[in-house]
Amino acid sequence: MKKDFSPTLLDLDSLQIYLARHFGFCYGVENAIEIAFRTVEENPGKRIFLLSEMIHNPQVNADLQSHGVQFMQDNYGKQLISFDELTADDIVIIPAFGTTLELEKKLNGLGIQTEKYNTTCPFVEKVWNRSEQIAKKNYTIIIHGKPKHEETRATFSHASANAPSVVVKDIQQTIELAKYITGEKSLEQFYEEFKDQFSENFDATKDLERIGVVNQTTMLASDTQAIADYLKQMMIEKYKLTTANVEERFADTRDTLCYATLENQLAVSGMLETDADLAIVVGGYNSSNTSHLVELCEEKLPTYFISSEDKILSAKEILHYNFHTKKEVLTSDYLPNKKRVRILITSGASCPDALVEGVIKKVAAFFSNTINSEDLIKHFE
Ligand code: SF4
Repeated sequence: MKKDFSPTLLDLDSLQIYLARHFGFCYGVENAIEIAFRTVEENPGKRIFLLSEMIHNPQVNADLQSHGVQFMQDNYGKQLISFDELTADDIVIIPAFGTTLELEKKLNGLGIQTEKYNTTCPFVEKVWNRSEQIAKKNYTIIIHGKPKHEETRATFSHASANAPSVVVKDIQQTIELAKYITGEKSLEQFYEEFKDQFSENFDATKDLERIGVVNQTTMLASDTQAIADYLKQMMIEKYKLTTANVEERFADTRDTLCYATLENQLAVSGMLETDADLAIVVGGYNSSNTSHLVELCEEKLPTYFISSEDKILSAKEILHYNFHTKKEVLTSDYLPNKKRVRILITSGASCPDALVEGVIKKVAAFFSNTINSEDLIKHFE
């Protein structure tokens, strides 16, 4: 873990760019991309499939597709290529966020070796291991994550193989879940309210008596903490526990965020201490960790979530993604008209650094008296 989270200043005179201390690609993504390209290289003539998008970045995925890799499912588990089309000769790569046990079994049943081309990130596996540990101690597993996200579906599948499991997407849903702990809500309501988010035979009247919280690795750290704290408090109140014996009912899992998510979030918080006019966050629109960085920036200043420099149409207009409405919007006059403009920039864990560089160069070109960016790079070398 890094200790200094102050941003790096690129002083281009009339434009000052503050780059987050930690941003972009993480170990898991780099590893997955490397394995995918190596697989293509080492297997000429073979059909190579990816269970779904490798990572949530359109450029990386397009690059893989241009090398002949085909995606079997879209991000929401919708089948693009039928499993019936696969033969034992094909290669199927499991993406960084892992997959469900059911899918793995299905592929193995078709004679496809999944272990050899499995790029599941060790930090995702760590969550699965943590779930297994608390399951062995008879705790029910509460997963804080986006119910439809591949990683959450994979974690849910692994967790529910060992213990009753339920997914909560946010604090509001956690507050509702707690009402089944206190008995304020009926079992019938649970099945309706948490539809598709609980494991088979889940019984909210008894499966919430001992619980532990794990999370999708890319959630907002503060959100997961708030969820765990809330549930812990509910257990203390319901069972008249103290912090000394709360473990009887609430497993101490600490958070299961990965280091990269945490560092990127801490670096954004560090960057936000700088006074600035706006923030630009670069990353894939369906990237969970990137949207959380946007969320943090939005609390403080105008924030533009873009997938590449192409979205910066001119010095006057920017096309950016509103992840609340899930739509791209056009904003005019996003750059303030002042002597010195200060911009904060960061990117998500699935965003190649080259995209950030592209954004910096594009914005820098709008400021006529800026220092040449090539000179600036030399300065850093
Ligand atoms: S964000 Fe974290 S868990 Fe996800 S792939 Fe990267 S290192 Fe692994």
